[in-house]
Amino acid sequence: MSTLWLVATPIGNLGDLQPRAVEILDRVALVCCEDTRRTGLLLQHAGIRAERLAVCNEHTEYARIDDMLDVLGSGRDVAVVSDAGTPGVSDPGERLVAAALDAGHDVSAVPGPSAAVMAVTVSGLPTDRFVFEGFLPRKGRDRTERLAEIAAERRTVVIYESPQRVVKSIADLAAACGADRRVSVSRELTKLYEETVHGTLATVDLGEPRGEYVIVLDGAPVDDAEATDDEVRRSLAALLADGA
Ligand code: SAM
Repeated sequence: MSTLWLVATPIGNLGDLQPRAVEILDRVALVCCEDTRRTGLLLQHAGIRAERLAVCNEHTEYARIDDMLDVLGSGRDVAVVSDAGTPGVSDPGERLVAAALDAGHDVSAVPGPSAAVMAVTVSGLPTDRFVFEGFLPRKGRDRTERLAEIAAERRTVVIYESPQRVVKSIADLAAACGADRRVSVSRELTKLYEETVHGTLATVDLGEPRGEYVIVLDGAPVDDAEATDDEVRRSLAALLADGA
């Protein structure tokens, strides 16, 4: 039985590349990755062969399934890595996993860095129950509805964001959730300029946005969480009118 391995890679600090990740990446017959140049450099850094790389990004993940199944079917293992962090977490991986399982192969992982988990654990907000939202929809009704869902969510909420959009997302979250909601915003995790700022949606000070961000938002107080969707939608009508 062959195995599809999901191998986590560093989110910024190469020191986080784990020995078991190196061992698996060295012995599989095929490494599916988002960017062959980037993963090639990582493999080079780890001192292992880089000639078994195949591109698997959001556009090519389906197309890569047959190649993966051919290799697994021949009794050899395959690895999936993303540009950074854990494959399948806002990154390709999910479809390969489903296809490998459907074909009767084993799926396992070398767990490791993920910006979501690191950000929630350093946030100072409740970690006993949290939900991962990935990236917010960029605009329109999808965004408004997602913001309304988040506003009513009782559990801690984890959101990925870019430097271009983080300020607007904090403002939209303040409009949806109320300015007093506690938040922690992390950027450049594990890198030289790593920073996590804490505050409320009104007070949190991001400075000049630079690098990649994770927003960790406190859950709704019981009263807010019990507001009906209609009430939350009404309070967000202004956002839509504003072109959110
Ligand atoms: N698979 C990755 C993981 O496990 O974290 C996430 C990939 S997703 C395409 C990229 C987003 O993750 C970035 O836009 C940012 O929101 C977050 N991210 C990744 N690395 C980060 C870092 N070092 N610091 C803060 N956020 C990061």
